[in-house]
Formats: sequence, structure tokens, C-alpha cells
Amino acid sequence: MPDTDPADPPTTPSTTPAGSTDAAALDAADPLAAHRDLFVGSEQPLVYLDGNSLGRPLRVTGPRLAAFVDDQWGGRLIRGWDEQWMELPTLLGDRIGATCLGAAPGQTVVGDSTTVLLYKAMRAAVAARPGRHEIVMDTDNFPTDRYLAAGVAEELGLRVRWVDVDPAAGVTADQLAGVLGPDTALVALSHVAYRSSWVADGPALTALAHDAGALVLWDLSHSVGSVPLALDAWGADLAVGCTYKYLNGGPGSPAFAYVAARHLEGPDALTQPVRGWIGHAEPFRMGPDWAPAAGIRRMLSGTPPVVGMLALADMLDLLEAVGMPAVRAKSLALTRMVVDLADDELAEHGVEVVSPRAAERRGGHVTLRHPAMQEVTRRLWARDVVPDYRDPGGLRLGLSPLSTSFAEVRAGMDAIAEELAPPR
Ligand SMILES: *Cc1c(COP(=O)(O)O)cnc(C)c1O
Repeated sequence: MPDTDPADPPTTPSTTPAGSTDAAALDAADPLAAHRDLFVGSEQPLVYLDGNSLGRPLRVTGPRLAAFVDDQWGGRLIRGWDEQWMELPTLLGDRIGATCLGAAPGQTVVGDSTTVLLYKAMRAAVAARPGRHEIVMDTDNFPTDRYLAAGVAEELGLRVRWVDVDPAAGVTADQLAGVLGPDTALVALSHVAYRSSWVADGPALTALAHDAGALVLWDLSHSVGSVPLALDAWGADLAVGCTYKYLNGGPGSPAFAYVAARHLEGPDALTQPVRGWIGHAEPFRMGPDWAPAAGIRRMLSGTPPVVGMLALADMLDLLEAVGMPAVRAKSLALTRMVVDLADDELAEHGVEVVSPRAAERRGGHVTLRHPAMQEVTRRLWARDVVPDYRDPGGLRLGLSPLSTSFAEVRAGMDAIAEELAPPR
């Protein structure tokens, strides 16, 4: 029961949100707060602010892995492949697609590392635009993406058309429009920028690339499980993302690839260059020549990394139950708290927020810049406060929505303030 008489309403309307930096009130009002206890380590005082680099394990994952060894691997042995393991890449792919990507079934598969799937996707895309010579990418994209684009260009006699971006933001529609043309084969961008957290305008940039006749490849590594996606609605062509960040798949868990259904059918269906037996139309025929598998399985190459997919399945159970809109709402409240605390309490020490302030452009992490941040990060780790550091001077706070509390953010921000201005 509210303790105010309805005839005498409080002067502050009840719809006024709690202060964006009042950790206790925010945790008390957080409908997802209890989920934090589902993660290993949540009972410890350690402050974990790097869920965008490696998500915490769920408590159910340890027993699930042990049971897999005993029952599935140890019990079923090679029969496990026929019984279910061979289908895991598409079963899990469809679940990622439905819960996180806005993708209908049959377009997403779990396979190799992010890097290897990005390579295959880039090669597949440029092969589908013969006679065009340019790959468009921004200079602040993740290193592996930049190296791959340059490598594919060198391999095939193409060019990379680099877009210079504001390192506190990311690629805008105007910038992209300025570099597209009849020679553009592929536009390859990150949806959420790993450094600044800028959320690119997925539907607008996809439409611009299509107007120029190019294909689009989205890197979703910093989006998936944090920012809702709608690949089918955007008309995206290809996408690749990581599963050990906000999907909590564990160190080195395999990545996923999405290819739109229209690129998986007919004589113009995309194919990728790593022609292994598992991406073959009939893997166990073991015939002399390669022929691509029907549908999304053609993106596969070798034996599926089954053990590496188990933890991911646990996180998908949780994300399916919670739903991405609720995850995003908490993510925005967490990142807003960091931005507001940085303005209120760290700006006086010379700290600058180098992530977007507008909610719709801000992903699941926030980067705070100060010349001392590399050293500050080293001292924070020593006191069990764990963000990460990215040049130049960027302390990155990755706030995994289901495993991070507002109190944890408050403790982390207080620790940063103390390290920047040690009490005397
Ligand atoms: C984390 C990340 C990767 C990781 O690639 P791996 O092959 O898993 O090492 C790639 N791209 C982006 C944008 C990332 O954030």
C-alpha cells in the first residue's frame, strides 16, 4: 500500500524516475535485479565492469558442462553427432536469430571464430558483386575487421575505402553517402563501436548501401545480447557476431553468421571460400568435388565446436525468458548512471565522456577518457575493480545488463574517482 492518501497526492508525480545516480533506489526498482544472482561470482565484492569483453558464466553452466562430459560425450560417444551435435550450429543459430537478431529461422549459424566468419562473409559478399572494386569501412573499426578488409582487398585486387570517424562517435549516414558509388562492392561496419559505444543507424546505412548497389556486412560483436537488432527488417545482407561478450559463451566460444534468406537460394546464392566437408551438400558422401550445402549451412567449414556452444545455450535460455527490450532498458539505465556520475563527479578531475550521450546512439558500454586511465586501470584491477583500457586514454566500462547492479556501478565509479584523486 502506498503510504500517501490518494486524496492528498505527493507533490512529485509517481512517474518521476528515481534519480539516475541513486544506486540503492535503482536496484530496488530494477525488475531484473534478481537475475544477477544467477551468475558465478555475484556474491563476491569484486566489481566487474568488463562484461563487453568476457561475460560472467551462469551458475547452471558448470553442472551442464559436467553432465555433458558424463552423459553426452562419455555416454553417447560418436552417436552424439547423429543424435544432435551436427544440428547444434543451426539450432543455436535460430535461437540467437529469434531472441537477439530479429532474424527468421534458417539464416543464422554458429561456427568458427568471429574473425574467421568475418573473413568468409567478406569474401562471399565481394564475390557477389563482380566488377566492383571497393570495400567501405571506417578507420575506427575493430582491428580484426580492418586487417581482414585490407587482406581481402590485397588478395583480390580490390581497395578499402576508409571512412574517417570521430573516435567519440561512429559512421553517420552523411559520411557513408559521401563514399558510396558504383564501385562499392561491400560496406562492412560495426553496429556498436567497440571503443566509443556509438550505435550505427542500421536501417538507414543498410538502405544507403543498397541504393548504391552494394551489400552490407554488420559486425554485431558489441551489440548482440545488449542492443536489440532487427536484421530482417533492416534488409541486412550479412552479419557476424561474437558469443563470449554479452552472450556469455565463455572464453573463445564460437561466433555466429547471418546471411539473409534471399542470398541463400538460387543460382546467385552466396558461397564462401573455406570449402570444408561440413559445409558440403552431402558431408558423408565424401565425394571427389565440393558442392555447397543448402541454406545457411554453406557458411560452415569443419566440425562444429560442440563443447564451446554449451554455455551460450544457457545464456540464450535466460535472454529468451527476459526478452531483449527489458535488457536494453536496464542497459540504458546503467550507462546513463555512468554518464551522469562522470559529469557530476569525475569531470572536475578532467575526465571526458567519449561515448554518445543520446540514448538511441549509446550501446552497452561507456568510455571515459583521461591521460592517466591506463595507470588507473592497473590500480583498479589490483583492488578488484575490473573495467578495461583502450588507447588513447580510454577506460571502458562494459555493463552487462543481467549481471551488473547499480551498486556495482556506483562502487566502480567511486573507485575511479579515488584513483584519480587519492585522498591525502
Ligand atoms: C570482440 C570483437 C571481435 C572478436 O573477434 P575474435 O575472432 O572473436 O577474436 C571482432 N570484432 C569486433 C567488433 C569485436 O568487438
